[in-house]
Amino acid sequence: MGKKAANDNVRVMVRVRPFNSKEINENGGQIPFCTVEVNSETVITSKPPPGEAGNEHSFPFDHIFWSLPADQMPAPVPFADQPDVYNIVGVPQLDSMFDGYNGCIFAYGQTSSGKSHSMMGYEGKGRGVSPRMCEEMFARIEEAKEAKKNTTYSVKVAMLQIYNEQVQDLLKKGGPNLKIVNDPQKGPTVRGLIEKDVHSWDEVNQILDQGIANRSVAATAMNATSSRAHTVIQLSLDMVDELGQVGAKKISRPRRSRANLVDLAGSEKISKSKVEGANLKEAIGINQSLTCLGRVIDHLVDGKPHIPYRDSVLTTLLADSLGGNSRTTMLAALSPAAINYDETVSTLRYASRARKIVNQVKVNEDPTAALIRELQEELAKMKQSVLTGDVDTLQQIMGTDQPISAANMAAKTQELETVIEQIAALEQKEQEEEEKREQQWISERSELEARHNEELAEIEGMRAQLEQQKVQLEEQQQQLQANLKVKQRGVIMNRMQGLTRLAAAQQKAAEHDETKKDLQREMIVNRLRTSSEKQKYKQAIDEARAVQRNAATDEERCRNLEQELEAARAYIAQLEIRKFGPQGKAGKGGGGYAAMGRGMR
Ligand code: ADP
Ligand code: MG
Repeated sequence: MGKKAANDNVRVMVRVRPFNSKEINENGGQIPFCTVEVNSETVITSKPPPGEAGNEHSFPFDHIFWSLPADQMPAPVPFADQPDVYNIVGVPQLDSMFDGYNGCIFAYGQTSSGKSHSMMGYEGKGRGVSPRMCEEMFARIEEAKEAKKNTTYSVKVAMLQIYNEQVQDLLKKGGPNLKIVNDPQKGPTVRGLIEKDVHSWDEVNQILDQGIANRSVAATAMNATSSRAHTVIQLSLDMVDELGQVGAKKISRPRRSRANLVDLAGSEKISKSKVEGANLKEAIGINQSLTCLGRVIDHLVDGKPHIPYRDSVLTTLLADSLGGNSRTTMLAALSPAAINYDETVSTLRYASRARKIVNQVKVNEDPTAALIRELQEELAKMKQSVLTGDVDTLQQIMGTDQPISAANMAAKTQELETVIEQIAALEQKEQEEEEKREQQWISERSELEARHNEELAEIEGMRAQLEQQKVQLEEQQQQLQANLKVKQRGVIMNRMQGLTRLAAAQQKAAEHDETKKDLQREMIVNRLRTSSEKQKYKQAIDEARAVQRNAATDEERCRNLEQELEAARAYIAQLEIRKFGPQGKAGKGGGGYAAMGRGMR
């Protein structure tokens, strides 16, 4: 291994899955409270659900994938679908593999947070990062073949699972448990693991299907199809660059790279998955290896001299990917639901710690320096043979048994020198490119850090403003509450006065009713009395009229009697005249009938 290793931080990215239909249905068909907010493509903030204790926390990462559709939760960053995740997570890893670097992508997060969706994908929802990487790997190999590049490629695929601290080959049903050994050339290697030579994406696809079918799946209360095992796909790429030929000797440069594509089991606490019996043992096993992974991360970040890789099978296998020779990306999967808030915060903490791990990456190739040295030795031996006239050695070096002419010698020497120069130039160029890449990486990283710091400062500023607003609002609220109390008291007083007035009015109304009733009674009595008096008057009038009528009749009769009397007097007078003559009786006392009549009047 000729090149010096370059520093390379573990890239950590976060993906937030959409709310599922169960979560929406349980919230009465409404979109539930979202426990994370994305501030930019690299900063995410956790938000405690309403009524739950805790503060908001912002975390910087290398990338945030927001996979909640806009109708669930709009965000200031673009929606990330499967190809977007592949382009940012998978493509740089594939580029790196073609450069000869080892790689690792591991998905971390609680059950049903979207790890398998991102790593493998599901029928109908789009393929995940691992199959897309395999497919593009073969597309690139085909392109290189068509462009007649002097490189040959060979690809191998293996698939394993770590279940209850045991390694099982997923390409062999029911095989024995396998051991991990440390290969000085390849790093941690599973001894006896089947590595299938593959020549096309179709072949890989079939192999992945076979591996998935063999996977151990145990139902838990959280997700009936949740895999309780850590699943690893190992993708190996061997490349040989043909540089030329020196005599009988082919000068080639072999490189190889290997990527571990890891879908970890759920990181949730045991109590939540409600597992029992055999499943409980399994859950403890899973947790143990994830706890150990956390410990390895902590030790690496804190710069401890001993890293406890050997404490679990998972960390033994991933030793190179964490702190070793590997370009590593961690994809932290999150659920936005309130019920998962604690796990979400713990995943963000875990992941942000992993971001501080620095790996030492280098191209996996046979040392160019050794090759140059070998060629230089050959050249020196050749020159020595010319000086000493050692024809046999010269013939051996030049791969011929024919006599060697001076021209042949000069041509051969020239050829050897050219190859040495070419290789040295190649090495120089690669060295420069690597330094350039490292510089670029450092400047990108510091730019990113600066941006994060700015964003964090901005968020902090906003938070301080919000805190201030909160204090003001609380004061306003207190004031309003005090006002409200005063008003309430006034309202109560008014109501009491109102009630008193109402009672008085009711009393008056009752009295009024009584008076009204008395009056009505009186009226009735009066009416009755009036009608009986009317009757009496009528009777009196009738009687008076009768009296009047009688009186009139009597008068009439009186008049008649008087007339009769007059007539009688006249008659009497006539009779007297006839009897006594015209002085008659008048002179003698004058009584008679006429005097009677007058006396009767
Ligand atoms: P995990 O592997 O973390 O247990 P899964 O990847 O199986 O979780 O995701 C649980 C469910 O959520 C699956 O049905 C999956 O299809 C769905 N899911 C996860 N992430 C997404 C996403 N980004 N878009 C749509 N569906 C998703
Ligand atoms: Mg899964």
